[in-house]
Amino acid sequence: MNAIADAVVVGSGPNGLAAAITLAREGASVLVVEGHDEIGGGTRTSELTLPGFRHDVCSACHPMGILSPFFRTLPLDEHGLRWVQPTVSVAHPLDDEPAVLLTRSIEETARGLGGDAKAYERLIAPLLLGDPQRLLQDLLGPLRIPRHPLRMLRFGLQGIRSATGLARSRFRGDRAQALFGGCAAHSVLPLERMITAAVGMIFCLTGHIESWPIAEGGSAAIGRALMGLLTSLGGHVETGRWVRSLADLPRARVYLFDTSPAQLAAIAEPVLPSGYLRRLRRYRYGPGVFKIDWALDGPIPWKDPSVLDASTVHVGGTLDEIASSEDAVWHGHHPTRPFVFLIQQSQFDATRAPTGKHTGYAYCHVPAGSTLDLTQTLESQVERFAPGFRDRILARHVMTAADFERYNPAFVGGAATGGVADLAQLFTRPVARYNPYTTPNRRIFLCSASTPPGGGVHGMCGYYAARAALRRIERLPDTPLC
Ligand SMILES: Cc1cc2nc3c(=O)[nH]c(=O)nc-3n(C[C@H](O)[C@H](O)[C@H](O)COP(=O)(O)OP(=O)(O)OC[C@H]3O[C@@H](n4cnc5c(N)ncnc54)[C@H](O)[C@@H]3O)c2cc1C
Repeated sequence: MNAIADAVVVGSGPNGLAAAITLAREGASVLVVEGHDEIGGGTRTSELTLPGFRHDVCSACHPMGILSPFFRTLPLDEHGLRWVQPTVSVAHPLDDEPAVLLTRSIEETARGLGGDAKAYERLIAPLLLGDPQRLLQDLLGPLRIPRHPLRMLRFGLQGIRSATGLARSRFRGDRAQALFGGCAAHSVLPLERMITAAVGMIFCLTGHIESWPIAEGGSAAIGRALMGLLTSLGGHVETGRWVRSLADLPRARVYLFDTSPAQLAAIAEPVLPSGYLRRLRRYRYGPGVFKIDWALDGPIPWKDPSVLDASTVHVGGTLDEIASSEDAVWHGHHPTRPFVFLIQQSQFDATRAPTGKHTGYAYCHVPAGSTLDLTQTLESQVERFAPGFRDRILARHVMTAADFERYNPAFVGGAATGGVADLAQLFTRPVARYNPYTTPNRRIFLCSASTPPGGGVHGMCGYYAARAALRRIERLPDTPLC
């Protein structure tokens, strides 16, 4: 693309592509510049282990993708995206008893929680009344007056609490506590922290609206569908083009950065005020991830075979164990019994592995920037609930937190979700501003997961950033930024 674009988006992650689509849908000319040779950011798929085994490099399971209020307005199916939904969203194995299962049916899920069945229904059922999508519309966006205030109030009164506080006061048994703790651990915060209960509630809720899906053929199908839609709207994408300074930017009226705040500060330093740069550089990213992908000779031999029905397995035992592992990581220690997020895509998608073989995907949180190989520790946790698992491993591919940052500079320290989403930084990411997607330079915007509503493949950050840019685009010049 040689002509000057209305908008240049730096980075083709789901938020960058969502921003580009939002702009293109309104008639703006858009160019996305991506440093990597492949588009998609955290949604790429690759043969990491052996030929014929297709592994999701980062994101794998997409409750926020299928429920994203923005993605739901897009004809992504026409561009090849097919969500594959298992019968069980989450299986949570426990020692010497059947696994806890989160399924579409709240009654069925509750029945598996023994004496806590009624308490679970009392907590989650009110959120499902009417159209639960409305609550997600309010939650998956910037801080503003909610469109559905009563729903938000009901949610917020419980959600503001810590996950451990809520789980221990509401549930008596290990089963409900563990299920809730595992869902809350997606917050990447110590579970004693305020608002971690909100994350537990959101992830339980999503499982009752839609089964947590994977993308047929691999998560790369999400990026491909977004790019297909963008190009059908006249947008352009260039890969293999890293932006390291303002001189690398093509001419445009507005620039949207699908990057970390630190990268934005480094690239746009000459045209942003020092006070704002200081605040960008103070942004907190939190722990990183350590991940293993396996090529397997067969399905994972879970002690409880019903675990094979779930796309996602929360491996880590009781609430106390999960809380202690997440707390250790937060305080800079490597967990000895990590809480493991495990996805078994090939159980539901035959394209992921040769006939009769399987893929396995698992990660745990580790201190930021960690270079430690936790293979033994992580595999021991899986072996605990699936004896004989190691015998099924044909090959493995390991990525430390430091590897993740090398792979994608937006994952600072290996942080997977765009930065700490605690009370101080959830809605005020990257800094406290009336419109967090804008910067003091009226032509520069941030559209990555380091803006509200934060991490995950949902495109909402990109959508809201593009809306902010669209409000200004016509009044801005297309001269060089400096
Ligand atoms: C191991 C792991 C597992 C995850 N699992 C899940 C999951 O199961 N479900 C889920 O919903 N989410 C998951 N996530 C989180 C999810 O991947 C991210 O939140 C999401 O990708 C963020 O999207 P984004 O568009 O903001 O940024 P990214 O996806 O990080 O994309 C940023 C893009 O910008 C490019 N870029 C950066 N800097 C420059 C530059 N200077 N010049 C040019 N290009 C640049 C990068 O190459 C990249 O392509 C996971 C993440 C990790 C790391």
